[in-house]
Amino acid sequence: MFDVMSEHQLQELHLFQHDKLKAIVAVHSTELGPALGGCRFVEYDDVEKATVDAARLARGMTYKAAMAGVPYGGGKSVIMLPSEPYDRTELFAKFGQFIETLNGRYITAMDSGTNVQDMDVIHSKTQFVASHSGIGDPSPYTAEGVFQCIKFSLQDELNIPLSKATVAIQGLGNVGYRLMEKLIDQGATVIVSDVDQEKTRKAINEHGVFVAPVSEVLMEPCDVLAPCGLGGVITEALIPRLNCKLIAGCANNQLLKDSVGQMLWDKDILYAPDFVINSGGLIYASGRIGGKSMDQINDDIDRLSRTLLSVFCRAHKEGQSPDQVAFEMAKEKLAP
Ligand code: NAD
Repeated sequence: MFDVMSEHQLQELHLFQHDKLKAIVAVHSTELGPALGGCRFVEYDDVEKATVDAARLARGMTYKAAMAGVPYGGGKSVIMLPSEPYDRTELFAKFGQFIETLNGRYITAMDSGTNVQDMDVIHSKTQFVASHSGIGDPSPYTAEGVFQCIKFSLQDELNIPLSKATVAIQGLGNVGYRLMEKLIDQGATVIVSDVDQEKTRKAINEHGVFVAPVSEVLMEPCDVLAPCGLGGVITEALIPRLNCKLIAGCANNQLLKDSVGQMLWDKDILYAPDFVINSGGLIYASGRIGGKSMDQINDDIDRLSRTLLSVFCRAHKEGQSPDQVAFEMAKEKLAP
């Protein structure tokens, strides 16, 4: 556990167990404010994998908040999906009680596998939760920020109008589906894929999109590859098989390792760092908690594409990959 904490520079790591509930809360930093980050409820092979996932995600949240200019630190929680039948309400109520014991050092929110109803159950036990029904689902704001970043990257970096672009989306969940709709609305050609066939069927029925097999979507010839499922999908082995000019999606931790960022740069594939472009939901949730108006929140989301373009600009100037540049910029903001 301490090795994981050292590797990911965690400040705190909490493990909770009660009946079917096995939960992990990772707090990376409270430098800029309480750690804010979603709760993932997915299947894990073992507790080590779940811990590493929470740790990597928590670290990403610190950099995400710093780049977005929100006064929060980085944290994340995971609940391991039980292999046996369980009572969902009981599980999230117990989780809420545990969150309460952290006295506000960690504020939870929705993430993969959790929904507004789960957040409401947590909210019945603690105030330290964003994205309950009083605040709402942050996903549309995440999708909007990523959409704008794709649009401006295409325009400013690749000289391709969105209406002439082809975008391949992996994952049609809360954020991926909305991103797809925004892109189609602006005339882009969209190729989609999801392991859940109900979601691809819905996309075909509602929008007549092209569907790529799950095993091939990352290699589809396209202008933009948008990973919107789980993380770690851009690997060293995948790089020679990529057929895109830009990678920009909603998923957290898209690069399996930091070194993959430099390899993409060397191959002339522009990577829009996930923690720079997917903070729309964080901006929304933190803004709502902090009493910002919707106009202020929307302005903050509109600024994301400008931040991304400044990352690209510095990457060109310094000859460094955009993810490396973005990490440095975030660190400068954390320790000016
Ligand atoms: P979700 O669980 O609603 O959606 C994920 C989708 O990806 C699901 O439909 C799933 O079936 C699909 N998927 C998983 N593995 C796949 C694969 N190998 N190939 C194709 N499809 C696959 O989750 P979400 O809320 O949409 O979040 C998606 C990603 O975006 C996550 O990495 C999450 O951490 C990140 N993210 C989400 C938000 C948000 O506001 N929801 C904010 C920031 C980052």
